[in-house]
Amino acid sequence: MKNYHTHTKRCYHAIDNEEEYVKAAIQSGYTELGFSDHTPWHYDSSFHSTMRMEEDKLDGYVNTLLKLREKYKNQISIKIGLECEYFPKYMDWLKQMLHDYPIDYIILGNHYDDTDETGIYFGRPLTKQQLTKYVDNCIKAIETGLYSYVAHPDLAYYDTDDEFYLQQMRRLCETAKKHHMPLEFNLLGYKTHRQYPNETFFRLAKTVGNKIIIGTDAHESDALLDMKTYHLAKQYIERLGLELTEEIHFLR
Ligand SMILES: [Zn+2]
Ligand SMILES: [Zn+2]
Repeated sequence: MKNYHTHTKRCYHAIDNEEEYVKAAIQSGYTELGFSDHTPWHYDSSFHSTMRMEEDKLDGYVNTLLKLREKYKNQISIKIGLECEYFPKYMDWLKQMLHDYPIDYIILGNHYDDTDETGIYFGRPLTKQQLTKYVDNCIKAIETGLYSYVAHPDLAYYDTDDEFYLQQMRRLCETAKKHHMPLEFNLLGYKTHRQYPNETFFRLAKTVGNKIIIGTDAHESDALLDMKTYHLAKQYIERLGLELTEEIHFLR
């Protein structure tokens, strides 16, 4: 059992330090645990995000995980990742950062349009134009080849019964399929009854033939101990006839 969607208290809206997540994962029998805390961005402006780690905390994040990887190497494999948006004007910075740090993988969390300095949050009710933009950004992100999977692909908040929703989300699913990129079934959303994961989207993914990966999106270490939610989700996904995977591609 593997999980690549794990936060830590560094992003200000999760609790527990890295080691507590590692211990919980070992206790539950995970063989591989990937950390994907919210990436910092190097902003042009004085904008200060309250939902992601500071840029100067990246060293500590990576070094802590390198030490834990060594300390627990006989019990669990630890991967170092980040959950990143697709912010066009900062993509060169992101690429350089991925080159400079031993980051194993990044997942796409397409939370904000273009940059959170000015862009809207995609988890709020969207207009047609905004939904289109959400999908366009996902597609551009996938096409960079940098991201390992799409986290909560169905974060975009729109009437799921509307034909327009299906039309747009089909573009996302087809691009992911073409690039062999798994789509995440998000356990945090499932457990807390958010608008995602939504069944309409996953039925669509079934018709497109996407592979699905379960992501805990742990914001507290206890989330990795909650096997009940994990197994309920797994049964639900299998009932929809979707193919599950735990394989992602790594940057290094
Ligand atoms: Zn996210
Ligand atoms: Zn997350």
